[in-house]
Amino acid sequence: MSALFADVAVPLPLFQTFTYSVPDSLGDELHPGCRVLVPFGTRHLVGLVTQLHRESREGTVKPILETLDRKPLLSPPLLKLGLWVASYYLAPPGEALRVMLPPGLLAKKVALDEDQPVQRFWPTKQRLAVVEMTSVEVKLTARQEEVVELLSQRTLPVAVQPFLRDVGCSPSVLQKLVSKGIIRMEAVESYRSPWAQSETFPEVQKHDLNKDQRRIFEKIDQHLSMNRFHSMLIHGVTGSGKTEIYLNAIASTLARGRSALVLVPEIGLTPQISRYFRAWFGEEVAILHSALSVGERFDQWRRIRDGQARVVVGTRSAVFAPLAELGIIIVDEEHDSSYKQEELPHYHARDVALKRGELEQTLVILGSATPQLETFYNSVHGGAPEYEALNSRILERPLPTVHVVDMRVEFQKRGKAVVLSQHLQESIAERLDRKEQVLILLNRRGYASVLLCRSCGNTEICENCSLSLTYHQDSNRLLCHYCGYLRSVPQRCRACGNKYIHFLGHGTQKVQEILRTLFPKAAIARLDRDTVQRKGSLQRILGAFGSGQTDILIGTQMIAKGHDFPRVTLVGVLTAEQALRMADFRASERTFQLLTQVAGRAGRGEQPGEVIIQTYYPDHYSLKHARSQNYRLFFEEEIRFRRNFRYPPFTALANLMVQGRPQAKTRRAAEQVADLLLRQRTRLSAQRRMRVLGPAQAPLEKLKGDYRFQILIKSTNRKELHEVLESAMEELSQKRVKIRKPSIDIDPMNLL
Ligand code: ADP
Ligand code: ZN
Repeated sequence: MSALFADVAVPLPLFQTFTYSVPDSLGDELHPGCRVLVPFGTRHLVGLVTQLHRESREGTVKPILETLDRKPLLSPPLLKLGLWVASYYLAPPGEALRVMLPPGLLAKKVALDEDQPVQRFWPTKQRLAVVEMTSVEVKLTARQEEVVELLSQRTLPVAVQPFLRDVGCSPSVLQKLVSKGIIRMEAVESYRSPWAQSETFPEVQKHDLNKDQRRIFEKIDQHLSMNRFHSMLIHGVTGSGKTEIYLNAIASTLARGRSALVLVPEIGLTPQISRYFRAWFGEEVAILHSALSVGERFDQWRRIRDGQARVVVGTRSAVFAPLAELGIIIVDEEHDSSYKQEELPHYHARDVALKRGELEQTLVILGSATPQLETFYNSVHGGAPEYEALNSRILERPLPTVHVVDMRVEFQKRGKAVVLSQHLQESIAERLDRKEQVLILLNRRGYASVLLCRSCGNTEICENCSLSLTYHQDSNRLLCHYCGYLRSVPQRCRACGNKYIHFLGHGTQKVQEILRTLFPKAAIARLDRDTVQRKGSLQRILGAFGSGQTDILIGTQMIAKGHDFPRVTLVGVLTAEQALRMADFRASERTFQLLTQVAGRAGRGEQPGEVIIQTYYPDHYSLKHARSQNYRLFFEEEIRFRRNFRYPPFTALANLMVQGRPQAKTRRAAEQVADLLLRQRTRLSAQRRMRVLGPAQAPLEKLKGDYRFQILIKSTNRKELHEVLESAMEELSQKRVKIRKPSIDIDPMNLL
């Protein structure tokens, strides 16, 4: 038989796999999806086998040195999915496969010591445990007897440390028992649970589905019985009971012997949501998100791979969870921008979910009150995903009433700029009197957004990013929200030396202070990136609000997402138009989504809800339709804009970013890339079908010290877009003059 070869993806930014020969001694134990150690140039790398074959490639082929796994880390369909991600998003295969695995498994560096075997990265945790007990008739002290009795009440293996803590005894007692031959101790693998040990499975009320929920559930159930790819959009207003449908659908999937994957937005994986899943499915549930420790994530991943957990609830990268026999994928809040990875590879978890569904022949459900424009368009005009609507709230609860306060008028009335309008202030007071709860949204953290010299007009700007520094009162520092640059507050203007320094604009910290002065008796908490930095603080803040210890919760868009707090009857939105100022074609859509979602937090219980939106642009269509919470009307206006300016869904979009320094050189590199693209466009497409725009300075023109230029490609033909990009990148890597490679974002979610 001819020799065996393996194609290996290495964790480097290289757009290809590499072929190695497989020594006979390894032939039997090697499978696609296993890690191998390979020579690469002058070093060694850990790579992942993507395929085995018997045709050699041209040139000399080096042998694989070692196999690192017996069981593949990725199943054949997942491997296929990873290679699809690499090709669709024009990402290096090694990078695409790396993000599918728990952190560290496909590491970039391997230190290889001549005499030492390779350390296979496999972060299990060992801990000492009592693994065996015998009943020899040996004389024991009273205390020893007691400990033996306590041990025998537990199931083996019993972890030593927690046992000693629980029963309050010293290690020496156990040691004595070991020397007397009563017990045996050994290091065993321990499972790091993301849930506190004391946490029991909660009880939640299971509701009988109402007529609308039942209709949709029955459709889902029918599709489940067919075991083939199908996609569905559940467009349900906030509070219409989508979660209850998901839970029933998963129960039905499990009953059919198949597994379920649920994706939630980054901030959506609150204790509340995981409670529901744990209550319904107990030990079968695994959770995956970035706040878990490396060890916890690894252990969750292993439980899933070993078939111990058949329901996975997780954020973006959970779309790659190694579930076997997958029956359903649910993408909740499918419009949420956290599904798009802003680092390389720039994949979108919703779109990957749809591809996975196709590869594994499963049902894929997308749910949202405010579907992404493309999703809705495809569903209603293209028939896929299948469209299903839930138009009313559970128990016929009304949607909240929305008032818009024109802050221009407010300014004239009060003779000065105010943070809280009179109407909002009075409404908050009313709720506090009635012991109801209030949410305040302001999408800017920190205290003041600009530090301005009143004498010369100078503002304090980040030297790396050329953006305003935000004043943070708790640390008394100026902070750049993009690169984390910190600086003390100058006593005098750094430009003119004058001391008339003034804070402009307000962030969540400032508003919290204002609210405290206005409502000294209320308990006021804040939820933003600053207050959730410490592990567990998100849970604590939401928990305190959920249980009613907090009266007012102020926060950034984090408070808008998915939460179900029945006692919230008022939602206030400050500077609603903030997102509209961004130079991004999704600015209107984002604004509409944010306002509708945050409004959806009001009136979810028995008392009806009210929303007060403060804005300087009350006439903008995003605000107008958010006020009536009318998605269709918003859609009709927005889709016209997209059509006129050839944005998705009418074109496929790619954003190429060239970053570097100095500025002139970076601009030249971007111009060269654009020329190359234009040449390939002429060769492969037509002006009519594809436009190459730029290079232009990116809206965030300088970040972390690098200047940024972007090239935007719009094409009515996705295949051609790919061909042009691929050939251009190919040409770029063959060029003798080195041009800085652009980073390519396919289907970008933002153009900043
Ligand atoms: P959505 O995700 O659509 O915003 P949820 O699934 O959070 O809505 O449901 C809103 C509330 O209604 C939740 O408190 C949920 O427990 C409750 N609920 C859901 N379905 C029913 C039902 N059939 N009968 C009564 N209450 C329900
Ligand atoms: Zn910066």
